[in-house]
Amino acid sequence: MAHESDFAPDEDGLQNALARLIDAKLRRGTAHGDPVAPLPVPAQWPADGIGSRAALARLADTALVEATRLDHAGFFAHMDPPTPWVTWAAAQWAAAMNQNLLQPDSAPRARLLEQRVVEWLAPEFGMTGGHLVPDSTLANLTALWAARDLTGARRVVASAVAHVSVAKAARILGMQLVEVPVDAAQRLRADLLPADLSDAAVVLTAGTTATGSIDPLDAASGAAWRHVDAAWAGPLQLSSHAAVLDGIEGADSVAISAHKWLYQPKESALVLFADVAAAHECLSYGGSYLGAPNIGLLGSHGAAALPLAATLLAWGRVGLAARIDADMALAARLAARVAAEPALELWAAPVAGVVVWRPRGADPVAVRARLQDAWVSTAVVDGQSWFRSVAANPLADPDHVVDAVLAAMSALARDTAAGRY
Ligand SMILES: *Cc1c(COP(=O)(O)O)cnc(C)c1O
Repeated sequence: MAHESDFAPDEDGLQNALARLIDAKLRRGTAHGDPVAPLPVPAQWPADGIGSRAALARLADTALVEATRLDHAGFFAHMDPPTPWVTWAAAQWAAAMNQNLLQPDSAPRARLLEQRVVEWLAPEFGMTGGHLVPDSTLANLTALWAARDLTGARRVVASAVAHVSVAKAARILGMQLVEVPVDAAQRLRADLLPADLSDAAVVLTAGTTATGSIDPLDAASGAAWRHVDAAWAGPLQLSSHAAVLDGIEGADSVAISAHKWLYQPKESALVLFADVAAAHECLSYGGSYLGAPNIGLLGSHGAAALPLAATLLAWGRVGLAARIDADMALAARLAARVAAEPALELWAAPVAGVVVWRPRGADPVAVRARLQDAWVSTAVVDGQSWFRSVAANPLADPDHVVDAVLAAMSALARDTAAGRY
């Protein structure tokens, strides 16, 4: 049997797959609470294949129709954005050409393009360079690896609400994790930092996971290394809200998840360094067959820069800023509506597009379970349970979400009165 045709374009197959994608995107998607359909594939991997077109047809509903709709007007929840269509095309190109940036031979142009994208972005953060990684968990680990090996740092110092990836990195790197208390706004208390930070890599968070709080980014000036975990809020530096990140340009390294507020498909993130030459040299392994040193944690590495380059080129600096500004305006609108509703409580005015709020006099988790056609996430802040709405969805409608929560509160109150809850 000849298999060549599997590796050549099946024009009808591809066009049908694209038509299914467009059709699904134009539909509304599943509502929260819909029963999860059983998977349309058998428990055991079948011995005989059904063919490429049939395989895609079999998986289409699972992949497209039954996926959570991040672009739904009622989706005001997690740090995951819907992606712009330009990335759907670029990601497909990247999959089809499958360049491996590990080897200059097999990816000469893709390597240059990643470098170019980093050259565009790094200076915005006061950094001289860096590279792409699949996520900020790995960006934080990469940065702290460089910090340890370049400075001899033995401790990682971060706020008590730093992302779990910081604890993971400390553990993998054999460094001691020191947690510093936060203030009422969930920011690291700079006055409670250890006095001697000469053996410490300090991680400052720009956009904490629960509340979007931003640590004082100019803190810890005496540290051996200062890393800013800007996984979520980093892109604000490119918006009209850059002032909230004042001090970021003084860091030794910065982590940013492009698959969060740069609207990229997963997995796409950046680790940037103030002194990229020193950092990259420290993270380099020269394999003779590679033709170029292997820098950082990854071995084989694909062209995640292609969708990012397409997006940055399509929108330009001004266009990207406008989109982030619009998301920030949505967060402000949600916060204002919540503050104006007597039945709702706002935790605090959002600083980085994360709105923390809840129903008054009702359990947020029970209300959330009754939400129809709307999505919020939840967070625990100071031991209390709250809703968390992240402004990652440019198509979110704050009124839609608030109205859905008020309706869910009424439904819960009715059920409680009727003894059904
Ligand atoms: C999301 C997040 C991370 C982890 O980023 P991933 O890209 O999901 O690995 C790290 N730190 C903060 C503050 C985050 O919000």
